[in-house]
Amino acid sequence: MNFCSQCGATLNLTIPDGDTLPRHVCIQCETIHYQNPKIITGTIPEWDNKILLCQRAIEPRHGLWTLPAGFMENNETSLQGAIRESQEEANAQISNPSLFCVFSIPHISQVYMLYRGTLINGYASPGNESLKVELFDENSIPWDSIAFPVITEALKLYFKNTGSSGSITHSGDIIRHEGKLIINYY
Ligand SMILES: [Zn+2]
Repeated sequence: MNFCSQCGATLNLTIPDGDTLPRHVCIQCETIHYQNPKIITGTIPEWDNKILLCQRAIEPRHGLWTLPAGFMENNETSLQGAIRESQEEANAQISNPSLFCVFSIPHISQVYMLYRGTLINGYASPGNESLKVELFDENSIPWDSIAFPVITEALKLYFKNTGSSGSITHSGDIIRHEGKLIINYY
């Protein structure tokens, strides 16, 4: 950030009185522009013991596979965002959604919320941001071509928890430490 969205003046990176972290503060109107983590919301669409993945048609990670998910918009719920992303990326309709996992990823300031749910009629087709959409079982998942570590982790967690423990919600942190990702569940 370089300029104030309120008045257009220059911003200074400084710790405001009573705060502990540097913020972008306007030198003219003194508005403090806070920056906070982004929420990414999406679904794990299920059909016939398989789940739906999308092959990305956009950067980053063009050509790699991911779950239908994207940035939550203002004025929607996390579930509405997940349903919307599934529709946009895979023309997928989801029924009976339930929250499956929440991951905090502090080194990139993101929080992922993924809902599992039934892919209605098993139908999906590629939206604008997808090259292909396809149903996979655990053995056919393209494990070497998954777009983001958090998605790999969510898929591993999913296949470990299909069936009996289906409705349990999982929460974890994905921490980068000395170049490696460490996953803590709690
Ligand atoms: Zn200003």
